[in-house]
Amino acid sequence: ELTRSVIEQIQKDDQPNFMITLPTEQMLEQARYVDEHFDPKNWLCGIPYFAKDNFSTKGIRTTAGSKILANFIPNYDSTIVELLNQNQSIMAGKVALDELGMGGTGLHCAYGEIANPYNKNHQVGGSSSGSVYGVAKGLVPFALGSDTGDSIRKPASFNGVVGFKPTYGALSRYGVIPYAPSLDHAGFFTRNVEDAAILADATFKKDDKDFTSFQTKDENFYKDIHDLNPKTKFAYIREVHEHLPEKLRLEYEALYAKLIARGYEVNGVNFDLALLNTIGPVYMMISYPEAISSHANLSGMGFGMREDGKNYTEIMIKSRSKYLGEIVKRRFVIGSLNLKQQNQDLYFLKAKRVRRLIANALNEILKNDDILILPPSFEPAPLIESALEADEQSETDFLHDVLVMGNFAGIPSITIPFTKENGMPIGINLNAAVYEDKKVLQAAKLLE
Ligand code: GLN
Repeated sequence: ELTRSVIEQIQKDDQPNFMITLPTEQMLEQARYVDEHFDPKNWLCGIPYFAKDNFSTKGIRTTAGSKILANFIPNYDSTIVELLNQNQSIMAGKVALDELGMGGTGLHCAYGEIANPYNKNHQVGGSSSGSVYGVAKGLVPFALGSDTGDSIRKPASFNGVVGFKPTYGALSRYGVIPYAPSLDHAGFFTRNVEDAAILADATFKKDDKDFTSFQTKDENFYKDIHDLNPKTKFAYIREVHEHLPEKLRLEYEALYAKLIARGYEVNGVNFDLALLNTIGPVYMMISYPEAISSHANLSGMGFGMREDGKNYTEIMIKSRSKYLGEIVKRRFVIGSLNLKQQNQDLYFLKAKRVRRLIANALNEILKNDDILILPPSFEPAPLIESALEADEQSETDFLHDVLVMGNFAGIPSITIPFTKENGMPIGINLNAAVYEDKKVLQAAKLLE
């Protein structure tokens, strides 16, 4: 019944573009299986969820939001999908994303745009656009996303839901179509922090198929969710705080005062402003080369859409020209340029060194303080009209990019709802040192 009603709700939704592939038959089959093997002790049993369409699903089309994969049907499941299958959850749809995870608006999926569910003049955000939409709309209680720069944590802010990116390697990325592997994280959207903890319990596992994955030291994420150490120290970055719009800044200050009144320490820390200003460019100079390199196989040859040609080069040029979108092409071109031997030292390697400086500075803060508070956005979701501008400009304004530091350092990071402006949500983001996923969930529970 639950599965049927979810299918019905999806089919009735007023923004049908959020769904790329609805696997009705597989859903009903899994639901029948769950009926026969129902496990009341497992809270994920029978629960429907959406997967961002860059999570490979066996026998179900996986497009990554790109036309070049319009006909791609994997013969394996990504590890997280497999784990959720084992928990008898029901994969209720492959949902929209900005093509190949590149973008932050929800307007660059090759299968159509979606808008913010609170107000259709505003962006839903991205790149995990369909995932955040489904959870914000209440169609499913959770959804899978991926986060290379901020693609889980920023859209969570724009849509009033929880978005959790665990420590790099806590979740296997096997079967997740990459964007930039040294920055790519898998993660979840949920309606509350407890659900994120339940998912961490079910999915944090070392996976031999992903050599970056490890066995977490923590367990019982859900059971211990209320046990935040009363000596926990919170921190915020002064340079970021000072640049917030006044109204939001006062709300952050009220929160700090509340934390102090409850006995927690809250410290303002400094961060080199020059370094903060490099986040956007450094992200570009690392992620674009990694993208062109990991997508070398999108050539029209092995799999995916193909245009005919006289030789390999012609097939690749024609296939890519026809089936890739503008943002992807632009990033591939810049990425290729960075990888040219004479440019590597100048851009790619230099960017990697600056990434290390930023990660070191962040790790230093998280050695002294437990939880670093960051603004996932300093305003509600931007207008759709301003999208083009935003895509081009955000890369130079550090306030837009602070969450990307979490990808540079691989630290656990969660966005939860915080406030509203003109009826539109704005979230708050919490970070802890690597491997401290439990701490970040407990702190999020405290502030929820
Ligand atoms: N919005 C960022 C970008 O355009 C982040 C994308 C992501 O995290 N996948 O690249």
